[in-house]
Amino acid sequence: MYNTFPIEKLNKVETPFYYYNMRLLDNTLKVIKQEADKYDYHIHYAVKANANKRILERVNAFGFGADCVSGNEVSASLAAGFPNSKVVFAGVGKADKEIITGLENDIACFNVESIPELEVIDEIAARMKKTARVALRINPNVKANTHKYITTGLEENKFGIYLWDLEKVLDKVKQLDNIKFVGIHFHIGSQINDLDSYKMLCTRINELQELFVKRRNIPTIINVGGGLGIDYENPDENPMPDFEAFFKIFDDFLELKKGQEVHFELGRSVVGQCGTLMSKVLYVKEGINTDFAIIDAGMSDLIRPALYQAYHKIENLTSEHEENKYDVVGPICESSDCFGKAVSLPATVRGDLIAIRSAGAYGEVMANQYNLRPLPIAIYSDEME
Ligand SMILES: *Cc1c(COP(=O)(O)O)cnc(C)c1O
Repeated sequence: MYNTFPIEKLNKVETPFYYYNMRLLDNTLKVIKQEADKYDYHIHYAVKANANKRILERVNAFGFGADCVSGNEVSASLAAGFPNSKVVFAGVGKADKEIITGLENDIACFNVESIPELEVIDEIAARMKKTARVALRINPNVKANTHKYITTGLEENKFGIYLWDLEKVLDKVKQLDNIKFVGIHFHIGSQINDLDSYKMLCTRINELQELFVKRRNIPTIINVGGGLGIDYENPDENPMPDFEAFFKIFDDFLELKKGQEVHFELGRSVVGQCGTLMSKVLYVKEGINTDFAIIDAGMSDLIRPALYQAYHKIENLTSEHEENKYDVVGPICESSDCFGKAVSLPATVRGDLIAIRSAGAYGEVMANQYNLRPLPIAIYSDEME
């Protein structure tokens, strides 16, 4: 098993902290590369899932690109060694200064979501005597079976260019001298485990390609985004998703024109399982239905349960006594500061080491200082060996 924790060593580190299993990360990257290489697919890592320098460096070492959603992510990716030719910049609201950062560094592509954004990028590029390569982010109106806060490819969402606006946008692109149209981009949501959603996306893209053929303006890049889910319930049994089946869907269902490249932007599926939030029990308090295990990590360290009712498996790494049920809660002055209700754990006492699993994606990056708490630190498995 990849996730056998070095408990004795971890017990000596001041909690709360994030622990990253670098061997699992390497193995995950290896499998992604092996499966994507079968079809010459291009992988960009979605930096927003986890922007730690060590993790960025590891991803870059496997030859993947970086998918960024802010100017600072562009800078962090370049600083971690990603070549500018593999950095792309997406996001529904890019500020002028972030666009400048992208142009100054000659990044591969801007994923653009509206006509006003195209106009601003063109204007800034003209001023800087540059040409901006752009991919148009299209809202494919494909429903992803996932939580309503993390579905993005429906017409009611704020993301992307609507299908009925596409011709107008393509006309606009033609008029702008400092914009070069290189691709189309989609991203239908996150934590998607039903591969049928991707099948539907492929069908929608095939239909759309007819429009580009008709206009004799074929995009080179078909960027299908990310969103592949991980198994939050069984992190040890399923330490990585079925990348083989995932990439095969696109090979089976996406019809490419000559010279077209397929790009992916994977985040959660790359780093989700390699991270664990480690915390110690401060107090055990008796409740009416269940007891409370009050731990020293809170929603400021990991906000996913409070933000979108996300489930994380919780384990007590230092007790083997008979099981009991606990509400596992943090110290923060909010009722939503709860990691799990009626969680079965071995009998738990003050000082026990608690692991909140599958926290490598959208965990540490979302940490904040609410209640003036310090930010959690990161510990890497290869530094402990
Ligand atoms: C968040 C995001 C991703 C990554 O999503 P995951 O679910 O972490 O794979 C990819 N592309 C875009 C445009 C995103 O916003």
